Amino acid sequence: MSKWKTTAKMYKDFMKGYLRYRSDLKKMDQWIQKYAERKGFRVNPHPMYLTNLKIWIAENQEMYGTRICPCFEATGDAKTDRKLICPCSFAEEDIAKTGTCHCKLFARGDFTDADFVAAEKDLMKEYRISLNLVGNILDTRDVPKSDNRQMDVPDPLHQIKQALNQVSSLPLEVIVAREQSAINILQFAKLKKLNAEFKPFEDAFMVTIQ
Ligand code: SF4
Repeated sequence: MSKWKTTAKMYKDFMKGYLRYRSDLKKMDQWIQKYAERKGFRVNPHPMYLTNLKIWIAENQEMYGTRICPCFEATGDAKTDRKLICPCSFAEEDIAKTGTCHCKLFARGDFTDADFVAAEKDLMKEYRISLNLVGNILDTRDVPKSDNRQMDVPDPLHQIKQALNQVSSLPLEVIVAREQSAINILQFAKLKKLNAEFKPFEDAFMVTIQ
């Protein structure tokens, strides 16, 4: 698919998310600002970027029932997933180490707008990887792990979001290492009004989205 068509699809997705969750997005500002003020952090000042993060939090809230971090998928382990609820248990450690939380929603109080731009670019490099997509088969395994969470970056769901914008037709076959990722994809497909099913595949799982 051409770069122009991929960008158009991404923009369409953004608008759909915005319209679907717009009342939730406004409500989110309250806890986001409250947390930032309490901790002396700055909230990401870029409206498009911030809205995208909030749409992903709203999607996660609908899929998992809790506002799991917009950059990671639920693990299925209740204790770990609790730590991933935004603002997550890792945010303060991330900010102390790098100046921002992993997703660049929050940053140190002295972060400038330009610092946010640079941080967002770094994150995009980690997430907009060259996918292991051959024809309509996406293998989501063997990606790097985040330092302190030891979770995939990008996780299978983020890879699928990219792949769906790149393939010109469905079905999309997705190989995932963990059964929980396959279950998450089924939830995601339901949200997007797509059909999905999965089955064991070698030592992993194959999900078909159509
Ligand atoms: S990394 Fe940032 S956006 Fe993600 S859950 Fe933690 S605080 Fe929220």
